Amino acid sequence: MSTHYWCHGTYCHKSRTQDRVRGSKGSKVLRTRKVKLTEWNKNSFYKYFCSNGCYNDFANANIERIVALAPRTEPLETPIDRVEKVKHENDYHSWTETRIIPREV
Ligand SMILES: [Zn+2]
Repeated sequence: MSTHYWCHGTYCHKSRTQDRVRGSKGSKVLRTRKVKLTEWNKNSFYKYFCSNGCYNDFANANIERIVALAPRTEPLETPIDRVEKVKHENDYHSWTETRIIPREV
């Protein structure tokens, strides 16, 4: 199993940050960041991206292919039992909370 992935961000290698600079004088480059696999990112898409910006770039560049994996042609629905208004107040103000109670299955 890999211990890291190269960031899949479409423009990761174009971001002008010091940590991306590699190579020696005369042949320097901006290189895609390496993303270390951690407990925090191992079960999420973050293991493939160094930042939210890189994830967004990738999603925007590939969105038609991504949604084609699971096309949604009709809306989904979650059955609910009821909607309740609950009033709250403290020494400073009052507010109404709307609770949407899901239907038990
Ligand atoms: Zn990146």
